[in-house]
This record gives sequence, structure tokens and C-alpha cells, in this order.
Amino acid sequence: MNLIKEPFFQDKTCVLITMHGKEKAILPLFQGFEGLNFIVAPTLNTDILGTFSGEVIRVQNPLETALLKAKLAINHVDADYAIANEGSFGPHPSIYFIPADHEWIVLLELKTGRFWHTQHISTNTNFSSIVPKNWIEVIEFLRSIDFPNHGIIIKLESEINDNNNQIFKDLDSKLEIEEIFNKYENIEGYRLSFETDMRAHRNPTRMQVIAETAEKLKRKLQATCPTCNYPGFDIVEVEKGLPCSICESPTRLIHKVLYACMNCHHQEWSGNPEGLIVSDPGFCEYCNP
Ligand SMILES: [Zn+2]
Ligand SMILES: [Zn+2]
Repeated sequence: MNLIKEPFFQDKTCVLITMHGKEKAILPLFQGFEGLNFIVAPTLNTDILGTFSGEVIRVQNPLETALLKAKLAINHVDADYAIANEGSFGPHPSIYFIPADHEWIVLLELKTGRFWHTQHISTNTNFSSIVPKNWIEVIEFLRSIDFPNHGIIIKLESEINDNNNQIFKDLDSKLEIEEIFNKYENIEGYRLSFETDMRAHRNPTRMQVIAETAEKLKRKLQATCPTCNYPGFDIVEVEKGLPCSICESPTRLIHKVLYACMNCHHQEWSGNPEGLIVSDPGFCEYCNP
């Protein structure tokens, strides 16, 4: 077996793939991390993989898109690793009526294709849209999304011909927005909608969630395999059934988790990650049906 000497990433180079200033969120966290040197590649056009405003439709899921972004570095950047992020926005997966920001970050080893990834779901997002009936509704929307600290995208969509659609973004003032609204509201056969700009450089709230996701990735990389020292010793399986503290019946809380190493395939079962030995009877089907 290959015992990996620490630090694993010493003197290696990692390129951050971003067109939208994500180095602000990601690089401070990885400053001096395990001897890994970072460079930023703002010139690789990640928009070919899909955009939020819909000019280019995304076909992959966010993890695949993040991986494809990282792979853009192959043959283009002289680096050992590439790091890339992708987010998706919509109803929270378990609290349906609340919007959520679901972010993914991938660290790809360019030579081998091996990668580490983390995902993070946050309800801290201004993600929303509106089809305003009047200017007052626009003003209210701008206030609710914290414009101009956060960007806005305006879409004019034809009911008949998609080729006539127009998208306005990078708008900085209420005046610009008012001009567009006055010009295009109430045009027969068209729908004027306003939505939050979710591109990281126009959305500081999203930037914060990206930073939280990067922090998770960092913690994951810091967890090394007890057998070979490889980074990313992480949970691959969970077993529910933590016993109730009163009746000892299995509950839906996590009882055990399985950690695995993707290098030497060493596996280890461990108890509840929060250190719980028994469950509160509130989670028990018998004590609290
Ligand atoms: Zn019970
Ligand atoms: Zn290992």
C-alpha cells in the first residue's frame, strides 16, 4: 500500500475556473492550504455549459456541470488540479415553500480524473422573480432583492417567436430599469419579467453560500484516511435506527455511518456523527406516534 506523505498537495497548482469572481469566496479559505498554490482562470468561457439567464440551456445536473467546468482546464491551463462550482436554485428539497440555493464544488485531479466534491443547501438566498403589473411592484421587488447590491435580470419574451426575446442584465440604476419597464410594459404578445441575477459577482448572498460550500470541501479534504493518509475520508453510507432513549426501538435518526477512502478503499463504521448514543423519544414512533 502507498502511504501518502503529508502534506498531500505540497507544491501542486490548482486552477480556479470562474468567470464571475468566485475567487473572492473560495481563495481566502484555501490560502496556504496543504501547500497548494492557486491560480485563477477567468478567460475560460464556462457559459458554453449553460447560463442562469437561459441564453444557453444547461443539460447536465449541477455536479456534472461543475465537473465539466473543471475539465475545461485540461489542455488549457498548466495545473495539477482544477476547482469549479455550480449552483442551482429552486424550492428547498424538503421545505418546499422556501427558495433554496444548492451549491456544488468539485476539486478535480487533472491527470487522473479523480475528484472530491461537496454540496451545500442554504435557504439564505434572494432567488425570486416577478411579472410586475405596475412600477410600484417593480420598486417593491427591487427592495426585496436588495438591489443594487444584488443584480437583476429583465426578460422580454415573445409569446410567438423566441428569436424576438431580449435579456437585459448588468443594470446598475433604478433609472435604467424604469426606462426598460416604460418601454416594454404592455406590449401586445410579449411578457416582461424580472428576476434575481444569480451570477456570483452580482449576488453577494450567493457568494457567501459558495464560501460555505468551499469551507465544507476544505474540511472534507482535511479528513484523511487513517490507513494511507489520502484526503477526503468521508461518509459513503448512513444507517438509520438510533435507539429511543426510553423504549430502545430504532428511530429514523442516524445510528451509524460508513467512512471510505477512495485511494486504498479502507472502510470504517462510526457512530452517529453528532455523537448521539440514543434518540430523543420525540423521534420515536412508539413513544411519540
Ligand atoms: Zn421510544
Ligand atoms: Zn486510504
